[in-house]
Amino acid sequence: MIVSKFGGTSVGSAKNINKVVQIIANKKKKSAVIVSALSGVTNLLIKASEKAVNGDKDYIDIIKEIQEKHTSVIEELLNESDQIICKDYVLQNLHKLKDTLNGVFLLNDLSDKSASRIISIGEILSSYIIAKAMKRQGLNVSLKDSRELIKTNSDYNNAQINYKDTYTNIQNFFLKNSSDIVVLPGFIASDEKRDTTTLGRGGSDFTAAIIANAVNAEILEIWTDVSGMFTANPKLVKQAKPIKRISYQEAMELSHFGAKVIYPPTIQPVLDKNIPIVIKNTLAPDEDGTFISKNKNGNRSTVKGISHIDNIALLTLEGNGMVGVPGISHRLFEALSNENINIKFITQASSEHSICIAIDVSEYDIAKKAVDKQFEFEILQHKVNPIIVDKDLAIIALVGDNMKSHQGISGKMFSELGDNNVNIRAIAQGSTEKNISAVIAKRDVKKALNTLHAVFFEDHIKQINLFIVGIGNVGGKLLEQINQQKEYLLDEQHLNLRVIAIANSKKMLFDQDGINLNDWNTQLINKGEKSNLDDFYKNIIKLNLRNSVFIDNTANEIVPKYYADYLKQSISVVACNKIACSSSYDDYKNLKYLSRKYHAQFLFETNVGAGLPIIDTLNNLISSGDQITEIQAVLSGSLNFIFNNFIAGSSFYEIVKRAGEEGYTEPDPRIDLSGVDVMRKILILMRESGNKLELENIANESFLPESSLKADSVNDFLETLKKESDHFEKLRMEAENKGCRLKYVAEYKNGKAKVGLQHIAKDHSFYNLDGKDNIVLFYTKRYIDQPLIIKGAGAGADVTASGIFGDIIRTGNK
Ligand code: ADP
Ligand code: ASP
Ligand code: MG
Repeated sequence: MIVSKFGGTSVGSAKNINKVVQIIANKKKKSAVIVSALSGVTNLLIKASEKAVNGDKDYIDIIKEIQEKHTSVIEELLNESDQIICKDYVLQNLHKLKDTLNGVFLLNDLSDKSASRIISIGEILSSYIIAKAMKRQGLNVSLKDSRELIKTNSDYNNAQINYKDTYTNIQNFFLKNSSDIVVLPGFIASDEKRDTTTLGRGGSDFTAAIIANAVNAEILEIWTDVSGMFTANPKLVKQAKPIKRISYQEAMELSHFGAKVIYPPTIQPVLDKNIPIVIKNTLAPDEDGTFISKNKNGNRSTVKGISHIDNIALLTLEGNGMVGVPGISHRLFEALSNENINIKFITQASSEHSICIAIDVSEYDIAKKAVDKQFEFEILQHKVNPIIVDKDLAIIALVGDNMKSHQGISGKMFSELGDNNVNIRAIAQGSTEKNISAVIAKRDVKKALNTLHAVFFEDHIKQINLFIVGIGNVGGKLLEQINQQKEYLLDEQHLNLRVIAIANSKKMLFDQDGINLNDWNTQLINKGEKSNLDDFYKNIIKLNLRNSVFIDNTANEIVPKYYADYLKQSISVVACNKIACSSSYDDYKNLKYLSRKYHAQFLFETNVGAGLPIIDTLNNLISSGDQITEIQAVLSGSLNFIFNNFIAGSSFYEIVKRAGEEGYTEPDPRIDLSGVDVMRKILILMRESGNKLELENIANESFLPESSLKADSVNDFLETLKKESDHFEKLRMEAENKGCRLKYVAEYKNGKAKVGLQHIAKDHSFYNLDGKDNIVLFYTKRYIDQPLIIKGAGAGADVTASGIFGDIIRTGNK
């Protein structure tokens, strides 16, 4: 015999009930079919009883809603004569329900007995309708009320089974029953006095397991809305996959820790008889689902699944007077057990100075009172502190039979969570090592599940979530490059780059599934909201995605003010913006410190020489123990472009204007021409070489005339360049007369740095520096006579974007 249980979603609509009928019709064996209430109906019944007991008349509307739900299913599912019978049956039961709820409303009292009677209605109605639907299809079916078979104590809403009577009743019934199919309501039972009891939320699974045991079923099928027990809750982890085979113990651990797909007590009755369970999807019956049995030798992967329990409160009992005193934990547990409070998690440090326990948050108030009362005397004597309660927590757990034979699983679990700023409040690992669990903040659950899932199940593919501010020249190119390289990175480096948000000064766009980069511009225009850096930050924090990277492609002064906040959330920062690294030394150092402290990267390769690997090389030299003795460099692609084009007969003003138009200068060309940009760059190189310096410590002899230096707008500045053409022509001639070229050079030696225009002779390595190229000569303790030279394009959107891209990849490879 086969026992099949269909959950609420499987019987939520006429369409799905038809699927159920089809699945059963295809079976060639005798079946017991256990059904839940139509999806959502148990919740509505609970809501109605809460309203009634709180004196809210709206419970009447809820009864109507329940009636409409059933009526519409009946009308779609059945022929006219069956419709009349079924509607009448529904009406009769809802009348009784209304009477009970009226009583609750008038008395302002909801006893457990009434509550149980109220919530049993869902299964009573669904089983009746489904049996009718099967009959209409010509199946040989009978309906049996489970309350006549399953006997319990009078703990109405979480009734305990009287197995002896129950098994005898079921066996006797099936011995006599000759129909091919018996439909039974799940969840409901009765006590000695024949009053209705219920088996706890999700209890239809349990009903089915009890029947499976009693009839010695060959298999117990649990039909639901997902294709099996998944490696994690598929509603929260998109990459989760059904587990093909799993042991009873593993299934039990996963369900205890929140894998709602199977109600935890379900396993024991079938385990006792070694009856396998298969979890299948009513909506996709051809998929394999999950096979649960004693047999463990299917898949030997260590971690089988990750689950979580929401709504946890952590109670911490601590105090100096607890150390070495026997009986403290006994009294703690006794106080909780007297209040019927279920403990989900316990840890105690070996110092015995504190005990932590996790319970359902709804019970924390009663728990606190009970424990504080229990230790009233010790609290008065300051031997024990009043119990500390933390709320808004959750438990996540790794589950697997084979974890015990593998080292390093918990290490991996906690380091990955730490790297993603998931704070761990308490840890527990059973000695059987089937389960490693941790208490974390509720808001971190999705991130934690996804992070751990990626580590333990996803072939080590690392998802990196990008939040990009600045999508003009450089940012636009970056998006283009990411789009082009996405597949390659996934295949070759196992990195999954997703752009979650983009923003310019006007608009910002978020898509937590990743923005489609083929038409980001149109999406930004059509769907983007008004841009605001505060909101941008808040949205990122709210999304709380693992491996998040904030990217600043702007030259804006305000954006860097947020870097510290991002780093503190373990969000890496990649900046082509130089402001942060060239502002005060303390700020720069602080960002580096935060990056270390919060395991987030702070990378800014493009601050110097665009995409050239200058900072990376410098860092490698320093890490390997080298020391920088001297740097000579042409670091301004813009100035190089300008002076290379400033030949006899040309106008300095025109060239500067053109450089601006072609994107070779900063939006404000004064930053380039005043030398400030180069000062910032050499400052960053010096700081990265280990010097504590400020921008003012860098000597700058400007080549600009007084009037240009004083200009207080970009236009005024450009005008002065026009007016002062003689000044610039003189500069040019002086160099030409000596057979030299003009280059804007940055130099660092003996702890000092300067920037300025120099006459470069033919034999110097800077002489032939073309276009907008940069060059850096590093003289070090190891590169003494011949410097280490890095040379190439030092400006331009494409190369800058590729430098940022490189930093993004570095965050992924850490
Ligand atoms: P039913 O109404 O069929 O009893 P439930 O809602 O009780 O269905 O259980 C199925 C749900 O369990 C799934 O829709 C899914 O959201 C949730 N779930 C949580 N964890 C897991 C998991 N590890 N594998 C599969 N489903 C899970
Ligand atoms: N209808 C009950 C509930 O929603 C029992 C079940 O579906 O398993 O909890
Ligand atoms: Mg269920």
